[in-house]
Amino acid sequence: MRQVALRNGTRVPALGLGTWKMGEDVRQRAQEVRALQTGIDLGATLIDTAEMYASGRAEEVVAAAIKGRRDSLYLVSKVLPQNASRAGTVKACEASLKRLKTDRIDLYLLHWRGAVPFAETMAGFDDLMQAGKIAGFGVSNLDLKELQEWLAVSRADKTLTNQVQYSIEQRGVDFDLVPWCLERKIAIMAYCPLAQGVIPSKPVLKRIAGRHRATPAQIMLAWLLRHEHVIVIPKSSRPERVRENVQAADIMLSAEDLMDLDREFTPPRKSEPLAIS
Ligand code: NAP
Repeated sequence: MRQVALRNGTRVPALGLGTWKMGEDVRQRAQEVRALQTGIDLGATLIDTAEMYASGRAEEVVAAAIKGRRDSLYLVSKVLPQNASRAGTVKACEASLKRLKTDRIDLYLLHWRGAVPFAETMAGFDDLMQAGKIAGFGVSNLDLKELQEWLAVSRADKTLTNQVQYSIEQRGVDFDLVPWCLERKIAIMAYCPLAQGVIPSKPVLKRIAGRHRATPAQIMLAWLLRHEHVIVIPKSSRPERVRENVQAADIMLSAEDLMDLDREFTPPRKSEPLAIS
């Protein structure tokens, strides 16, 4: 598995595992655990979750999947904006740790901007770093202006990532946010990289998939992985699809593939509002 070097020197897999919608139906739980374990076995050892997902139950699914192998994994979770005061951030993290059955979250993110001033959340992240409860922090769903505001009041050089919606279908961030972050080695974590499972039916995707003996979904992931500092976190609760997604990390798109994709999925020509899911 290709690795991405974060700003603090930690190397993480370029393709990790999403968990949104996991934990919602107890009958799916065993399969969700198997899906995550399949990904981990194949080298997708970064898992993205959040206190929000299934009101904490997604974190419990993760706990079941990582039992006995915590140390080889990189866990990402998120604090809800309404909990992101200094004390609230610490409390939310402690609750996540309990559900995840671990003593450390590797990367802890502000899920999106709410009413709490950034400085408050940063103070909470500082407290958690000092206590060793998180090893790094970052943000999510911040557009360029908001990210610049965050960096002005936070420990700018320690912000590891901005997790945003980014796919070949939703590529507005290509105009400014992605190049700005990548120049500064702030990793972009691309969420909804498969357009939430609605794989575009454009023939160009099928054609390029044919060239690589791959699937259109794999081409969507490979397109994001063309960047050195982009991490993709597709979610699947089906082990066979997790396998398909992980294998996308081995596909190298050619200059011709990229030009063909640009013709059908036009790059943004001006700044666009951030797409949020
Ligand atoms: P996604 O990964 O783009 O798509 C997930 C959907 O695609 C699921 O319905 C899945 O169904 C299906 N799928 C997976 N692999 C497939 C394949 N190879 N072919 C066809 N369909 C496939 O969307 P997402 O789950 O919304 O985003 C990924 C992760 O990003 C989330 O799980 C979450 O961890 C994170 N996220 C973060 C935020 C944020 O605000 N920071 C927002 C949204 C998501 P099956 O499960 O049935 O395979």
